[in-house]
Amino acid sequence: MAVPKRKTSPSKRGMRRSHDSLKVEAFQECSNCGELKRPHHVCNACGHYNGREILAVA
Ligand SMILES: [Zn+2]
Repeated sequence: MAVPKRKTSPSKRGMRRSHDSLKVEAFQECSNCGELKRPHHVCNACGHYNGREILAVA
């Protein structure tokens, strides 16, 4: 069985993990209220989607 010859150094471990961070979520302006919302999701601020009110928001 292949076995690593040396312990991975903190530097090399950090280099490997440099690509592991999570991306920031995409956001678009709501066409109804202008609030930032996620694309293809109902707006959390006004409850609109595709020009219609889907959810009643107080
Ligand atoms: Zn909205």
